[in-house]
Amino acid sequence: MVDGTETESRKLLGRLREEMASEAAGQERLDRITHLIADSIRAEVCSIYLFRDEETLELCATEGLSPEAVHKTRMRMGEGLVGRVAKSGKVVNTADAPSAKGFRYMPETGEERFSSFLGVPVQRLGEKLGVLVVQSREARKFSADEIYALEVVAMVLAEMAELGAFVGEGAALSPLHQQSVQLTGGPAQEGSAEGHVWLHEPRVVVTNPIAEDPHREQERLTEAVEELRVGVDKMLEISRDGDTEQLQVLEAYRMFANSKGWMRRMEEDIALGLSAEAAVEKEQSQARARMSQVTDPYLRERLADLDDLSNRLLRILTGQGNANGADLPPDPILVARNIGPGDLLEYGRSLKGIVLEEGSVGSHATIVARALAIPLVVHVGRITTEALNGDHILVDGDNGVVHLRPEDTVVSAFRDKVAMQAKAQERYASIRETPTVTRDGARINLVMNAGLMADLPSLGHSGAEGVGLFRTELQFLIRNQMPKRSELVSQYQRVLDAAGGKRVVFRTLDIGSDKVLPYMKHVAEPNPALGWRAIRVGLDKRGVMRMQLQALLRAANGRPLTIMFPFVAQAEEYREARWEVNKTIEREKRLGHVLPETLEVGAMLETPSLAFAPQKFFDEVDFVSIGGNDLKQFFFAADRENELVRRRYDTLNVSFLTFIERIVERCSTSDTPLSFCGEDAGRPVEALCLAAMGMRTLSMRPASIGPVKSLLLRSDLLAVRKIIADARHRGEQSVRPAVMEWLRSQG
Ligand code: PEP
Ligand code: MG
Repeated sequence: MVDGTETESRKLLGRLREEMASEAAGQERLDRITHLIADSIRAEVCSIYLFRDEETLELCATEGLSPEAVHKTRMRMGEGLVGRVAKSGKVVNTADAPSAKGFRYMPETGEERFSSFLGVPVQRLGEKLGVLVVQSREARKFSADEIYALEVVAMVLAEMAELGAFVGEGAALSPLHQQSVQLTGGPAQEGSAEGHVWLHEPRVVVTNPIAEDPHREQERLTEAVEELRVGVDKMLEISRDGDTEQLQVLEAYRMFANSKGWMRRMEEDIALGLSAEAAVEKEQSQARARMSQVTDPYLRERLADLDDLSNRLLRILTGQGNANGADLPPDPILVARNIGPGDLLEYGRSLKGIVLEEGSVGSHATIVARALAIPLVVHVGRITTEALNGDHILVDGDNGVVHLRPEDTVVSAFRDKVAMQAKAQERYASIRETPTVTRDGARINLVMNAGLMADLPSLGHSGAEGVGLFRTELQFLIRNQMPKRSELVSQYQRVLDAAGGKRVVFRTLDIGSDKVLPYMKHVAEPNPALGWRAIRVGLDKRGVMRMQLQALLRAANGRPLTIMFPFVAQAEEYREARWEVNKTIEREKRLGHVLPETLEVGAMLETPSLAFAPQKFFDEVDFVSIGGNDLKQFFFAADRENELVRRRYDTLNVSFLTFIERIVERCSTSDTPLSFCGEDAGRPVEALCLAAMGMRTLSMRPASIGPVKSLLLRSDLLAVRKIIADARHRGEQSVRPAVMEWLRSQG
């Protein structure tokens, strides 16, 4: 380090601290700070650019450039050298600015006189706040020590901005976290919710970014890191026998907690004048900036581990606990980077909505949110940096849009929409007990999909005539270890009790592909959706299959029982599974257990191959259920989890409907009951067309029963069938336009 840089830097931070404590207004403070920095770094120019909106930077204070340019000079993200620093989040250091890549001449500033340019980003935990620039006439590159010192100053500026030190007139000086923002993500569970933000991991507030006594700060850091290490070792000790994924994370924690590089960087930050908290945050900010550029999923996870660890360290240093002393608001909308299914279940139905910065439509948390019918939006970039605990928030789970701190006009439009939906719900409640018979007399059986005990009350509310698909894997997915048989027995018993005699179709364990059990050895597969999953796992791991079958038989305890095997691709798989059922029954009989009154064993048709199985299969199977989500992905060869293709092909595509019709014909030849239990069954227009193709049982989310029933009650299936036939005859790709046109004409 250059002689004196350390003391210079500390002196500068000391003066910044005084600035922070002063009574000055935002603009005045910014002006004085640019002067202080220019003076300390011995540069002719120091300027601070702040974001006035997400895309635009504004010159907010300068020492050395033309004062008339303040609040006039603006650039877009990526524009000019300043925009380049903001966009990349990286330092730009050049001795010859006018010839540097991206330079843009701003005549009003008079900056052409300055040759060297050093710009560093002002950011806090991944949130971009602005750019700090120093320039000088002499053509020279700034030294590594000077860059480092300026980064430390930028860190302090970021903290000051967070604490509201630069608030004043004008958009760029408006307080942080007070403007309304609209963020867009991906819809993962429909529905609308209004409430107040509850951060799963609240932001730690650092009130003292600058150290008064560096020695004391070093000690505080050392003590806190020691406490952190002991804590991590303890967690490791407790989890020794736990699942491997959790252990992997803890091992990564330990590695980082003992990392000399991490510690050294933080110590250097403190030596330059930062407080221990600010030093941790500075490193955390840089790790987050790296995270946004890393695409390798493993490295991203490790950087996320480092981020978690930094949060823990900050909590130790600031004494701010996880809950931060705040109470869960009465209408909480959970905001998190990501959340595990167990944590989500703990919050349970108290949540009005969920917004995740990461997450995915197929994740376990999403499955739980769906089961609890909580509106969920995933992939909402910046939400955890933008939102503060208690912020007013609107979640539109239908369109994947989130309004944070919304304007009054947005709130009233949103409330109108919710009121309309509530009106529709009232209408649906009035037809709850009405049997679903179409105008031309077809009786359609509407049943619901479920997966948790929490779903069962919907059986009554929705008017579902039974459970057409009970996804048993959810109970396996949300645990850290394989459930015991006795636990499964009592769980299935409770499901049957709650169903009160209505038919429940228990689907056996459907794992693999996107549903990975944390405690089962994970096999890396090139194409998991086409891999070792569902019945394939069951037939290879007979012990697990038998255990589940036994649990189902015992839970039925003399009552009717319906079992369904997922993902049957050829008849032989069904036969083998059925053989296992028979064997289990014999064993149960020998053990003196009461057998079910009746037993049905069905197969899910989720691969096109099964539609072409020999007739004998359709004769012997008790029922068939089309798993439309999987069937459609294989029919169109379009991954249901891949955002780029998952919406590309229409369920109302003529080829797909023709295929469904073919399956209906195959089942009707042998009088085999047939149902459809993919997501499409819950979409009214799709449900109408499926019924027109001959489907008589549709299984869907409970909330969809009302809308689907309402449309079916006023429809004539023969008329719809004719429209589909005509569209097919005309060679149209999808029947949707024709059906929609007909629906409009019907009012
Ligand atoms: C399906 O594939 O349509 C189905 C109902 O099963 P899952 O969505 O659980 O794969
Ligand atoms: Mg499936």
